[in-house]
Amino acid sequence: PVQRPFNFSAGPATLPEPVLQQVAAEMLDWGGSGMSVMEMSHRGKEFISIYEQAEADLRELLAVPANFRILFMQGGGLGENAIVPLNLSRGGKVDVAVTGSWSRKSAAEARRYADVQVVAEGSGRNIPGSANTWSLRSDAAYVHVCTNETIDGVEFHELPRIDNGVPLVIDCSSHLLSRPIDWSRVGLAFGGAQKNIGPAGLTLVFVRDDLLGHALDICPSAFNYKTVADNQSMFNTPPTFAIYVAGLVFQWVKQFTYAGLQGLAAMEQRNIDKAALLYTTLDASSLYENRVEADCRSRMNVPFYLKDDALNERFLAEAKAAGLLQLKGHKSVGGMRASIYNAMPLEGVQALVNFLKEFEARHG
Ligand code: PMP
Repeated sequence: PVQRPFNFSAGPATLPEPVLQQVAAEMLDWGGSGMSVMEMSHRGKEFISIYEQAEADLRELLAVPANFRILFMQGGGLGENAIVPLNLSRGGKVDVAVTGSWSRKSAAEARRYADVQVVAEGSGRNIPGSANTWSLRSDAAYVHVCTNETIDGVEFHELPRIDNGVPLVIDCSSHLLSRPIDWSRVGLAFGGAQKNIGPAGLTLVFVRDDLLGHALDICPSAFNYKTVADNQSMFNTPPTFAIYVAGLVFQWVKQFTYAGLQGLAAMEQRNIDKAALLYTTLDASSLYENRVEADCRSRMNVPFYLKDDALNERFLAEAKAAGLLQLKGHKSVGGMRASIYNAMPLEGVQALVNFLKEFEARHG
């Protein structure tokens, strides 16, 4: 088989090749059913078995405690920016720590439903202190943070500890399933699937039991977490095909081995090694730079700038010719960005590093 190029897209993003191959092999006939997964009733026994396996595997991989419900929803991360306040704010106060573009968007959307206060604001290159320095309100309904800022490349390597008893909501879209989650610090977590988990169209929500049942009257029924939870994510038709692909990705992660480890621990270690390889190369270079403070550099999204912007187009064209796709940075910040999610092999990062050095030798 022809080797595919390495794809550094921020999302929808590269998927594990064995998963794509299995999807292709099962496309016309899933498990002898005579149907594609796309053609099955979500209430039939075939799809229910796919769904239950996917949920059980995800719960096991992330060690999700029994008092959390896992919801398979639609609407994406931006949908959740409204769905979370509709369900949790009770029309009251919401505290948001802004560490980049996505948390800023979350604060703006929540303002339509709640009294929002930005309790800390970073530079886009840092995390603004630990939570005990934030101006948190003890009567807030929840505190929102984005634990991995996909555009800015800023990641919380430890979840903030909220000491005033207010639940923490995390938008973990772009590092979900790349590392364990400390559930003792979390009330609700959400993320779109289209980075580490599967196709776009599936949104995962992990919600603690006590946060269910407080939705505003105006909350659409299909987005009411309690309604979704009470109906095992089948109040309305869930994104069945995306759930199926996600389930195959969960199986792939469970079986993944690296450095003597297996499963999520192996995945996390490889993510650590990939990120270290790339940041070390950028830091050693005099052509490229990453501007994020060392203690919060993302393992998943690595933005970098060429010292001479005039080289950007040539860089992208030569990268593409070398089999390295979608390295262009987000339009709001410019420059480049390499997203190195779970499905990006170490060889992909090595190929990028080789290209970076060779391009610098020619143009630096
Ligand atoms: N939050 C984060 C951290 C994201 O990276 C994204 C998408 N890149 C979103 C929210 C928005 O997600 P969606 O496009 O699925 O609505």
